[in-house]
Amino acid sequence: MTSRKLLNDCFLTDKDRLSHEECLAILTGRLSAVAAIEELPLVETSGRWLAADIVAPRNVPLHDNSAVDGYAFQAPATGPMPVVMRIAAGDLGKYRLEPGQAARIFTGAPMPEGADTVAMQEDCTVDDDGDHVSVPLDLKRGANARRAGEDVAEGSAVLQESARLRPQDMAALASFGLPKVKVRAPVRVAILSNGDELLEPGAEISQGQVYDSNRAMLHALLGTLPCEITDLGILPDDASLIEATLAKTAQTHDVILTSGGASRGDEDHIINAIDRLGTRHLWQIAVKPGRPMSFGQIGDCVFLGLPGNPVAAFVCFLLYVRPALTVLGGGAYHEPVRFPVAAGFDVPRKKEGRREFWRGWLEPGPDGRPVAHKFARDGSGLISGLRQATGLIEITESVTSVAKGELVSFLPFTGFGIDS
Ligand code: AMP
Ligand code: MG
Repeated sequence: MTSRKLLNDCFLTDKDRLSHEECLAILTGRLSAVAAIEELPLVETSGRWLAADIVAPRNVPLHDNSAVDGYAFQAPATGPMPVVMRIAAGDLGKYRLEPGQAARIFTGAPMPEGADTVAMQEDCTVDDDGDHVSVPLDLKRGANARRAGEDVAEGSAVLQESARLRPQDMAALASFGLPKVKVRAPVRVAILSNGDELLEPGAEISQGQVYDSNRAMLHALLGTLPCEITDLGILPDDASLIEATLAKTAQTHDVILTSGGASRGDEDHIINAIDRLGTRHLWQIAVKPGRPMSFGQIGDCVFLGLPGNPVAAFVCFLLYVRPALTVLGGGAYHEPVRFPVAAGFDVPRKKEGRREFWRGWLEPGPDGRPVAHKFARDGSGLISGLRQATGLIEITESVTSVAKGELVSFLPFTGFGIDS
């Protein structure tokens, strides 16, 4: 028997109703990294979470070098100088200048010893023989010369374990000469839908049925994080089949993610199966859109049960599933970015004690500054509102109304890894 990666009953709480902050605190505080560690060629690690700290093994750049094509010399210059050598990028020779001498030099070429400054070739005059150069006499010492280690100094802490590797980090790691990097393996997530009314796109639809839209959406949302997805499709309402499927899936996955049926209790086969195989808690989160969400575990596999309504499923994924997957995957959780912007709408009444996330977008106001606009209809089944939006407008618990011009928080979807 392998040791447990998760705490026993990590979702246990004595509260009937959790605030947004309490919910996040449990998810990010009680869960920990379960994803395996693997060493991969650098170019395959983009978007992954680092599994070890990175310290610069050498100076970048390694040597002092020229930032331009021109003439290297020791400042200050006092008049025309003999050009005694030529150094190109990639030149490995050892060069030394005496005071009063100049070197023809090209961008990226190592600075010769005895030189500290480079004059751009456009600013220089070369005599007719081509053997003397005049440079601007007022050039500052060090101009156009890059110092060894000026980008990153050897031994400096560059990236910490659990950082997500971005394109610019790829450049940094390559600049150190690292061929391989230790990262976390993708989180193994199984997704499924459940509900008698649900139908696979492509099937013939009748009155009373809906196509399963959440699963396609979850595929795409999971694609914003390092995840390996197993799609279990729409599970039919067959108790023993569901129990057998979940028991088997839990052995080879880090997470089982479902949507729909989260609140139905008795008649819901998935909920009943989790209760028999492990533990499960239904959390009433004081958030709109949200309704209840289920959190549980079967051994070391986490169960996350999203609401069925597409809008609620989408928002709860961003607010709760994304942080949970980040921590399970070995990543550091960061709050999504929030921008204070003026509201372009009035909402005379909002229920106190609940945090609301409205679908919104920004438009330039009369003074050119961004103003937040809100999708007019509230229904949490309206996919069109999600599509019109480019972010969420967050209204905190204590707020009971919003007047045009007041500041609200705007959380762009890009802060959740969703590009427009
Ligand atoms: P439930 O959470 O099962 O009570 O479902 C709430 C609403 O979401 C119902 O209108 C369901 O038909 C709908 N719903 C549940 N699952 C899905 C899904 N996978 N795709 C689209 N709509 C769904
Ligand atoms: Mg249902």
